[in-house]
Amino acid sequence: MSVSFDSAEALLRRHYGHATFRPAQARVIRSVLGGADVLAVLPTGGGKSVCFQVPALASGGLCLVVSPLISLMQDQVGGARSRGIGAAAFHSALPSGEAAAALREAAAGRLRLLYTSPERLPRLGRELLAAGARISLLAVDEAHCISEWGHDFRPEFRAIGVTRVALGAPQTIALTGSATPKVRDDIVRVLGLGRGRPGGAALHVASFDRRNLRFEACRITTERERFGLLLELLIRGETAIVYAPTRRATETLALALRHAGHRAAPYHAGLDSETRGEVLDDFLADRLGVVVATSAFGMGIDKPGVRRVVHWSMPPTPESYYQEAGRAGRDGAEARCVLLVRRGDATLHRRQLDVTFPDRRLLESLWSGRTDPARVPANVRESAERLRAELRPDGGAPDWQRVRERRRAAERRIDTMWRYASSRRCRRAALLGYFGERLRRCAGCDRCRN
Ligand code: ADP
Repeated sequence: MSVSFDSAEALLRRHYGHATFRPAQARVIRSVLGGADVLAVLPTGGGKSVCFQVPALASGGLCLVVSPLISLMQDQVGGARSRGIGAAAFHSALPSGEAAAALREAAAGRLRLLYTSPERLPRLGRELLAAGARISLLAVDEAHCISEWGHDFRPEFRAIGVTRVALGAPQTIALTGSATPKVRDDIVRVLGLGRGRPGGAALHVASFDRRNLRFEACRITTERERFGLLLELLIRGETAIVYAPTRRATETLALALRHAGHRAAPYHAGLDSETRGEVLDDFLADRLGVVVATSAFGMGIDKPGVRRVVHWSMPPTPESYYQEAGRAGRDGAEARCVLLVRRGDATLHRRQLDVTFPDRRLLESLWSGRTDPARVPANVRESAERLRAELRPDGGAPDWQRVRERRRAAERRIDTMWRYASSRRCRRAALLGYFGERLRRCAGCDRCRN
């Protein structure tokens, strides 16, 4: 890209009102401006959007952004437009008139950012090329979804590498808020980053050490104890998020907290979108003190002053734990991340793996029609369908080894979380070590007592 770093920073000031790039952003931006493909690993709140949005502005061309969630796309499009950046989304939930308008705008060179889903990318790419649009950059957000060793594997993300070649291998930037070394390698390989690009590929990993967060875990033995601890942890007048494992748990807990005098509300994907919107608005405007939520609450939520993130029980992966806990203290002031954990929490997650990865014999029997799908639980049926779409048993022998390894990787993540919760060693070192980072000095955890 023939734009200087200083001009890029001027764009940052003009469109975002930030005086300078953060150090990790600056490294990413220099690589992108220098023509490299980039994998950027920045923690939640690290400012990933700027890393591809500013280069998109600087290029004067079109940046195609692949994103896993429609709600996330809409947030980002809204945000970009409010900053005076031409942006649109192209996805399955869009009325056809709007999709056509987005294409027209892109082809006319009026858009800098066009968001789409991995499923829609191939078609969108073909139509853009046919319309003569120039794709100057491809950005892959939440890029860990590419890797089956990641915590959020989405098979449709794997095809992005092939589509990228069909698009003429445009300069590419992949971004994620969590990736272990193995997942990083996978992202680079699947996307073909650096292949045939004079600028090569650059990997930038920002430190995940959020010094203002204090990490704690409390082992409990009864559910009563859990609620008692939660009450002790929440302070009226301070903002908190409580993550609970099920929709029902969020509702029961929110009600119990209201009885205890907290301004609390539940949030989960089963609520209608109007209610969800209201809860989110009330939370952002400080009309609510506590949101009790499933993991559905979070993507794209950028509230600076959350003082506590409490996990009612152990989440199944260090990735989701760190991401959710990381919603505390985004303003840089001190905040606590507390995990309440009981031995049975891990057992529940292991049992869930039997649903996510049903037994091979059961799968084969379902696929061949020997077992009536109506006789297995709906969630097992869903897994069977998902794995069938991925493994395509009709086209030859499925690669069972792959599935076994994936299950093992999921088991290891549960073990890592359990060790995090039960070990006597520094919690921060355990979490950061999982992401491949060596910690020099703990800035605060209940083990180090600082
Ligand atoms: P992520 O997607 O990595 O979680 P965002 O792109 O949502 O992060 O940015 C997180 C927050 O940091 C936002 O409030 C954003 O305005 C702010 N931010 C991003 N870049 C800068 C910067 N260079 N200077 C100051 N604040 C920034």
